[in-house]
Amino acid sequence: MSAQEPKRKIVGIDLGTTNSVIAHFDEYGKVDVLPNSDNERTTPSVILFEDGEAIVGRIAKNLAASSPEKVVQFVKRRMGEPEWRREIDGHAFSAEVLSAMILKRMVNDAETQLGQPVTDVVITCPAYFNDLERRQTREAGRIAGLNVLGILNESTAAALAYGLNKRDQQVKALVFDLGGGTLDVTVLRIDGNDIRVLASDGERQLGGKDWDDVLVERVAEEFYLEHGVDPREVPESLQDLILRAEEAKKALSQKPTTKVFVQCKGHSLKATIAREEFEKLSAKLLARCARCVERTLRKSGLEWSEVDSLLLVGGSTRMPMIRGMLERMSGKRSDQWINPDECVAIGATYWGAILLLREAQALKERAAADEGASRLADSMEEAVPEDLIVLLGEAEVTNVNSHSLGVLTIGKDGRRSNECMIPEQTPLPHAVEREFVTWKDDQRNVEIRILEGAARDPSACVDIGRCWIEGLPPGRPRGARIAVRYSYGEDGVLEVRARDVETGREVTARFQSAAATLSEEEVALQGRKVAHLLQTDEMGLATDSDEQLLAEFEEGYFAEDG
Ligand code: AMP
Repeated sequence: MSAQEPKRKIVGIDLGTTNSVIAHFDEYGKVDVLPNSDNERTTPSVILFEDGEAIVGRIAKNLAASSPEKVVQFVKRRMGEPEWRREIDGHAFSAEVLSAMILKRMVNDAETQLGQPVTDVVITCPAYFNDLERRQTREAGRIAGLNVLGILNESTAAALAYGLNKRDQQVKALVFDLGGGTLDVTVLRIDGNDIRVLASDGERQLGGKDWDDVLVERVAEEFYLEHGVDPREVPESLQDLILRAEEAKKALSQKPTTKVFVQCKGHSLKATIAREEFEKLSAKLLARCARCVERTLRKSGLEWSEVDSLLLVGGSTRMPMIRGMLERMSGKRSDQWINPDECVAIGATYWGAILLLREAQALKERAAADEGASRLADSMEEAVPEDLIVLLGEAEVTNVNSHSLGVLTIGKDGRRSNECMIPEQTPLPHAVEREFVTWKDDQRNVEIRILEGAARDPSACVDIGRCWIEGLPPGRPRGARIAVRYSYGEDGVLEVRARDVETGREVTARFQSAAATLSEEEVALQGRKVAHLLQTDEMGLATDSDEQLLAEFEEGYFAEDG
């Protein structure tokens, strides 16, 4: 049978702003979270750079107080900014390389525990992530050396985990996902293994961290009034205060009052904070959440009376003010069944199995007589628990795009505008075809700029990439028609194809995302850097040329290590 194919192992990774979680199918065929080597089910998405080594997780988070200049947090908020770099010891790290470090740590710990390599992963991202952010997430996976089966929306993942455990029910649910740095609201219809997203929206800069900041401000003000010193101005004190504020916030989810202890420049203070006061101070943040929920519900076309279930996802939904607000708005009780920290990674694991089964099916259909292909397909199916194969093989998940997709056009008067091609909230996958004409005689190439956003004004949109149509037949007058087809994939990533209308011939359409897709070589090099920094490359460097590639990097960063 498939003995010659290496055994495949699927994991789902919730790559969070503040915490990340990894799940897999256990030996009983159930999806379970894999604890990290510190025996925690969630790993802080924090990286500490120390002595030429990168340390991901709790240690990094705890040591952040003493060396904030060596610590990187909230990397996910930087996805979609291809130019952004974080400088550490003279080295600039991009968001995808930093994210790759987090992914690699998660996967390494999983592999150690499982005693087998992880082969296939699904990584989740917020529903409102745009094409750039999704591509960067995928690149992070590649750099971490993973076969990324797909990128899945966090809220869809949560709904999948929920739906597959309530197979016999048909529900319309609102998923409210408030993590450490982002808010994601999605309305879906769940019918067992058939999940349809009706609408989705979010705020990329709203999360638990903002509630921490409320407490930081509150305590720092009291400290300043008492001692005339502002702990926000001393990096070590500020970092310590941030950690203590987060602990206080969590304590206020359990009890009506708590104390925060702060020290700065030889002074100290024990501030007492009541939950009621905290809620008043956070009123603006809460109102932003409420607006986002109303907006999403409106887009879905549903009334509150039609929503059956309220699913709360993300650590910040443990705050009673969040639950209270949603229950007041909806007139419903939230579903207590789901684990807000784990359901996203669990759903991602199911999605991994669904994608692998689809791939296996396609492989079998394409190459029925090919023994090698059928062995490969068998090995894919073997990675999925037997009793789930039918259920997952028939699963349907329909997402919507959370951003409009348009194209830059130039009018006769020379005015530039964004022409909408695929409006937001369109069910995916979706394809649209549009004709363009050449504007000069014997034009052999056309360049198209693709914009994300609904505004007519291109400067209010995000430039997500360019597409070059090449190899048009020579000698034709201006006005030759070219049909361009944009396909928005299930995972929200764009593909472009073009056809010469006159001849019906496909022409090359080279789409280049504004987030550069790294070449295999670059991925390999970045991957080795990541492995080296995480000290997971004890297998040794494979070839001389690899060592050469690394040398330049090491010279700078690892000079002391020799
Ligand atoms: P996530 O990214 O889903 O892991 O969410 C992390 C965020 O949830 C962080 O901002 C945490 O401080 C916050 N969080 C976790 N537990 C609690 C709690 N019990 N009460 C309030 N916030 C919490």
